[in-house]
Amino acid sequence: MKKYDYLIVGAGLYGAVMAYELGKKGKSCLVIDKRDHIAGNIYCEDVEGIHVHKYGAHIFHTSDKNIWDYINRFAEFNHYINSPVAVYKDELYNLPFNMNTFSKMWGIKTPEEAKKIIERQRKETGITEPKNLEEQALFLGGKDIYEKLIKGYTEKQWGRKCTELPAFIIKRLPFRFVYDNNYFNDRYQGIPIGGYTPIVEKMLEKADVRTGVDFFEFRKQNADIAEKIIFTGMIDEYFDYRLGALEYRSVRFETEVLDCDNYQGNAVVNYTDSEVPYTRVIEHKHFEFGKQEKTVISREYSSEWVVGMEPYYPVNDEKNNALFEQYKKLADSEKNVIFGGRLGNYKYYDMDKVIAAALEQFEKIMQTAE
Ligand code: FAD
Repeated sequence: MKKYDYLIVGAGLYGAVMAYELGKKGKSCLVIDKRDHIAGNIYCEDVEGIHVHKYGAHIFHTSDKNIWDYINRFAEFNHYINSPVAVYKDELYNLPFNMNTFSKMWGIKTPEEAKKIIERQRKETGITEPKNLEEQALFLGGKDIYEKLIKGYTEKQWGRKCTELPAFIIKRLPFRFVYDNNYFNDRYQGIPIGGYTPIVEKMLEKADVRTGVDFFEFRKQNADIAEKIIFTGMIDEYFDYRLGALEYRSVRFETEVLDCDNYQGNAVVNYTDSEVPYTRVIEHKHFEFGKQEKTVISREYSSEWVVGMEPYYPVNDEKNNALFEQYKKLADSEKNVIFGGRLGNYKYYDMDKVIAAALEQFEKIMQTAE
C-alpha cells in the first residue's frame, strides 16, 4: 500500500481542515473514518430534499472574522438566525431570556419593570450562598424563570435533579433587557446553503478518503502506512482506557418524516417541563427556509453514556478533567501522533473553535518542519 505523509483518523471538521491545509502544502494524506460517511458530527443527510442534521442541530456562529472568511471559502451561508422557542406546558416563550420572554411571562413592557420583578423574586428566595444548581438558578434569576425555563430542561439534560447538580454549571444567566431573540451574540451566523457535508467534501478533495474503517483494526495491518498520525477519535480509547474511561453525556435522536409542510414554525423548540421526555424538537427545513411539501423533525433525548455509545458532550468536571490531564501526558509522549478535535482533546468545541484549533495545530506542524 502507498505510504502517506499523514494518516488522519476522523473525517470530521478537525480532520478535514488538517487534510486541506496539509494538502495545500503538498503533503499526502489518507483520511479514515469508522462511520460510513465523511463530515463527522456535522454530516447532513438528505431526506425528502431536506438537509437533516443527523447528529444534532448545527448553527455556524463566530465573532472571528478570519474564521468566518475561512469557512466562506467552502460554502455560501444563508441569513439564518437562531431564535429558539421554549414550550412550558401550554405556555410558549422566546429564548434567550429577553424582553419578549419577560413580557410574555409577566405582562410587562419595559426593562425597568422586568428588572424589578427579577430582583424581587431573587430576594424572595432568601438564598445568599447557593449550594447546588437549583439554589444557584434561583439566586440568579428568581422563581418563575427557574421553574418554567430552567428546572425541567436541565434535569432532563443531566439526568439528575437540580438539587443534586453542582452550582458551578450555571455561572450566570444571560438576561437581555432588549427585545432580541437572536440566541447568539456573535457577529457572524448562518447555515451553509446545501448543508455541511459539501464543505467537508471540498476540504478533502486532495486527500485519499476511506470510510467504514476503524483505526484500531486498520493499524493492525497498516502500522507503517504514514509518517505521522493525526488522531481525532477518543483519547482514552486510543490508550485502551488504561487509566479508566472519560465520561460523556449522550443524545438519542428520534427522526420522523411528517406529511405536513410546517410542523412547529421554527427550527428549534425546547421543551422545558419535565413531563415531556425529550429536550428539543428540531425541524430541519427551517434552517434553510425550505419549501418542501413534507417536513422532517428530530426529537432529542438526553441520555446516559456508556463505553461503546456515541459520545456527545464531555463531562468536564474536576474528576474527568484530572483524568484527561493524565491521558494528555501519555499523548504528549506518543511519538509522531497528534491528538486533536473534540474527542482527542476531550473538550466541547463549537465549529469555529475546532477550525481555529486545527489551523493553530497546522501552524505548529509547519514551524517544526521548517
Ligand atoms: P467529529 O465531528 O466528532 O469527528 C471525529 C470523527 O472521528 C468522527 O467522524 C468519528 O467517526 C471518527 N472516529 C472516531 N474514532 C475513530 C476511530 N477509532 N477510527 C476511525 N474514525 C474514528 N458547533 C457549533 O458551532 N454550532 C452548533 O450549533 C453545534 N451544535 C452541536 C450539537 C451537538 C449535539 C453536538 C454534540 C455538537 C455541536 N457542535 C456545534 C459542535 C460540533 O459538532 C463540533 O465542533 C465538531 O463537529 C467537532 O469536529 P471534530 O472533527 O472534532 O469531531
